[in-house]
Amino acid sequence: MNEYDVIIVGGSFAGLATAYFTQAENLLIIEKEKEIGARQRSTCGAPVDWVRRLGAERSILRTFDTITIHSPNGRELIIDLPMPYCTIDYRTFCASVAEHLKNAEIRTGTEVTGVEAGDPGKVLCGHEAYSSGLIVDASGWRAAVASHLKHGYAHLPRRIAGLETVAEYDADSIHIYFGNKLIPGGYAWVFPLTGGLSRVGLGSLKKVNLMDLNRRFLDFLGIEHFEAEHHGGIIPCLGMRDPVVGDIFVVGDAAGQVLPGTAEGIRKAFIYAEVLGGLISRVLKGELERSRALEIYRQEVLRSKKFYDIMLTIQNIAYNAPDWVLERVIGKVKSDRSILKRLLRVYFEEDSGHANMNSLLASLKHILKR
Ligand SMILES: Cc1cc2nc3c(=O)[nH]c(=O)nc-3n(C[C@H](O)[C@H](O)[C@H](O)COP(=O)(O)OP(=O)(O)OC[C@H]3O[C@@H](n4cnc5c(N)ncnc54)[C@H](O)[C@@H]3O)c2cc1C
Repeated sequence: MNEYDVIIVGGSFAGLATAYFTQAENLLIIEKEKEIGARQRSTCGAPVDWVRRLGAERSILRTFDTITIHSPNGRELIIDLPMPYCTIDYRTFCASVAEHLKNAEIRTGTEVTGVEAGDPGKVLCGHEAYSSGLIVDASGWRAAVASHLKHGYAHLPRRIAGLETVAEYDADSIHIYFGNKLIPGGYAWVFPLTGGLSRVGLGSLKKVNLMDLNRRFLDFLGIEHFEAEHHGGIIPCLGMRDPVVGDIFVVGDAAGQVLPGTAEGIRKAFIYAEVLGGLISRVLKGELERSRALEIYRQEVLRSKKFYDIMLTIQNIAYNAPDWVLERVIGKVKSDRSILKRLLRVYFEEDSGHANMNSLLASLKHILKR
């Protein structure tokens, strides 16, 4: 039988979390990789609480209370995180969440190649078709389902990509490095793991050779031993897309929900997956019409659009700024901790709808003022 209550395309952060919060009995997850969690693209830094809530505590490798920002001239700004973050083992994370989806069918090694709208709609995988009234596109930045319904939906006007490797390097904080010599149009990072290893990488919106630049960054850190193999991918942090396309729900990178400026997409995927999972579960219980669920989901997500737009402006300024501007901004935030406090509050409260955007804009103006 190829009929399901819910079909989710993509078995990564957004898809698995949506399935988790839906807790539907007759749910199908379609994943093109041979196994869930087989292909890590991300640094996998996420809040500890979220990883625990999804029942994936055993995937946690290392936890952190701080992020250290490095200015182009080597000045350090240590930021206390309002919630602990961790690095996770991607494969273990996916397997752990999947274990909690007792009644879900996970079809791996299956690529979605098309979709037919309707109620129920059909998801096409080569010659196979699967039908459901509730279809979720959680297939990452290419939005494999939504793109079939809306031409140009996943088009990115600019490429913004990240790349990293695992290296012998230890640290007790997440480290972020700015500076055009090191990485033009972006930033470099160190996310520690266990056993004296770290994920070391960088991302940029400029057309640069990320592999060469990462070799230089590894040299800069004095790292001699690292894995030759790098992983990474496109980061669609260029603003939110419409989270509803036809009758399809779109979540995570597929809907452009990764935050510009910080490229934080995992926490955001979880947040919107929870909203979506809750709505789907109400449709299945007969408490809500599908059309109303689509409407509410769109409203809930687009409530944050203004914040995403502001973050996009910050990203455009920060990633194109000369070093002296980056130096001054980091120096200003370092010397006035109240600005930092305000920025962090808005950053972490914005999805609750209580964040004060005016306070954010005032802080930004203050930082950029001579
Ligand atoms: C180098 C790098 C580092 C990053 N570091 C961080 C970080 O530390 N913290 C953070 O919060 N964010 C980070 N991000 C962003 C974060 O990884 C993404 O926002 C997050 O992975 C989005 O999850 P997702 O489930 O929406 O999409 P994805 O993780 O991209 O998953 C999409 C899934 O859909 C599957 N799929 C795709 N097409 C099809 C198809 N046609 N049929 C079936 N299945 C399909 C894919 O195989 C994949 O499993 C980073 C990104 C990059 C590139």
